[in-house]
Amino acid sequence: MNHQEEATIACPYCGEYIDVLIEQGDIEQEYIEDCQVCCRPITFQVQYGHDQSLQVLVKHENE
Ligand SMILES: [Zn+2]
Repeated sequence: MNHQEEATIACPYCGEYIDVLIEQGDIEQEYIEDCQVCCRPITFQVQYGHDQSLQVLVKHENE
């Protein structure tokens, strides 16, 4: 079964909070998804923190 985690992030452009589904295959990857509010491309970085909790980092495309 494909394990998914839900995370809430703040868009780096418009500051709106967005719920995203993190799939197992996204972990340790960097990928781009458009903001559901302002439609600008957000770069996502998904990784495990030191306590094994999932961390989702977001940044501007050009940062
Ligand atoms: Zn946005």
